[in-house]
Amino acid sequence: MAVVLVTGGAGYIGSHTCLALQEAGHRPVVFDNFSTGFRKLLVTEDLVEGDLGRPEDIRKALSSFPVEAVVHFASHCYVGESYQNPYKYYHDNLLHALNLLEAMKKEGVNKIIFSSTCATYGIPREVPIPEEHPTDPINAYGHSKRCIEWMLEDYRRAHAFEFIALRYFNASGADPRTRIGECHDPETHLIPRIFMAIAGMIPALEIFGEDYPTPDGTCIRDYIHVADLAAAHVAALRRLLAQGGGDFFNLGTGEGFSVRQLLEEAERVTGRKVPVRFGPRRLGDPPALLAKSHAALRDLAWVPQHSSLPVILETAWRWFQKDNRL
Ligand code: UDP
Repeated sequence: MAVVLVTGGAGYIGSHTCLALQEAGHRPVVFDNFSTGFRKLLVTEDLVEGDLGRPEDIRKALSSFPVEAVVHFASHCYVGESYQNPYKYYHDNLLHALNLLEAMKKEGVNKIIFSSTCATYGIPREVPIPEEHPTDPINAYGHSKRCIEWMLEDYRRAHAFEFIALRYFNASGADPRTRIGECHDPETHLIPRIFMAIAGMIPALEIFGEDYPTPDGTCIRDYIHVADLAAAHVAALRRLLAQGGGDFFNLGTGEGFSVRQLLEEAERVTGRKVPVRFGPRRLGDPPALLAKSHAALRDLAWVPQHSSLPVILETAWRWFQKDNRL
């Protein structure tokens, strides 16, 4: 059993990872400032309310518990916002990661799993995207995540840090037992917005572009269930503790679905019609993003269990109804 500090443990992927760590016999300790996290997503009472902008808060968390490893989720993660406000992404995401690494160094903790993204690849030259694909992000969000990956490599060389960076594709779905699920404010992601349109919370789901070079003209993404992402963190922890790191893994299914396919499946799962309207393309959206996740299968023995489209939408819909008291 390992004590694991989870920054952003009250966020969407962070909270599901805390559950998976607990179920695997570990003890997650949440570090969160609740700027974007939610108390209703807390799955443990082991909580340090603190801010990564304040190094003393992190040192307090690391010294109050016998922490063996850190999972770092806390960051700003809206691509669109990062176009408008690059300062926020460079300043906070980079400074907070640096504060965390320095605090870990001072407290003698050298193992970290980092929540990275397929946005580090930018516009892919090859799809599905292997880990060896060149990284060339096209927005401040992707740049900030790639910079943190570099930090990790430098800390590994200089200070014997061991890291695993997990590059997620489209996180989706909710805890299969509906204890927790996706929450963002504002909510920008496709699946919850489809449900918001169904529930009348927004007038219609806007499809961002129908003229992409894809079979039905809408963007194709690789949707990976959040419980599968959480399981990959547990597997990454096992690997870090057993043999160290220095690795980058893509986490996706390799199978893609278009916006229109998601709408069709959502209508089937909910039995309701989705009101839609067509809008322009969203800045920085590549036509198709799909993962090659062979390395995770090989080195983490990671096989997605919940990532079929029906399971993603069914679990997400159950959570959405519970969360919104529908
Ligand atoms: N999308 C859309 N309408 C929305 C939200 C998203 O058409 O209201 C599209 C978006 O252009 C992308 C896909 O749905 O092709 C997934 O977007 P999301 O924001 O969920 O995840 P991202 O791919 O940006 O990580």
